[in-house]
Amino acid sequence: MIERGRAYRRQQWQRAKARAVRLVRLLGLSLDPPRVALAYAVDRKPCSCWMCGNPRRHLGERTRQERRFDD
Ligand SMILES: [Zn+2]
Repeated sequence: MIERGRAYRRQQWQRAKARAVRLVRLLGLSLDPPRVALAYAVDRKPCSCWMCGNPRRHLGERTRQERRFDD
């Protein structure tokens, strides 16, 4: 991977924030999108409770690939 500097990371962070604001607006998650969007800029799935998180991890479900392999 190419090594890039601080300016690049700042730009990417700005992009992530802009993208998150768009997402929050689109989904209508908040009346104040820019504020709420920060959490979505850091990680687009900012929750990992058993309902939102990986079903395999929380419920022991098998992945699509595993199920296909079993058949
Ligand atoms: Zn959750």
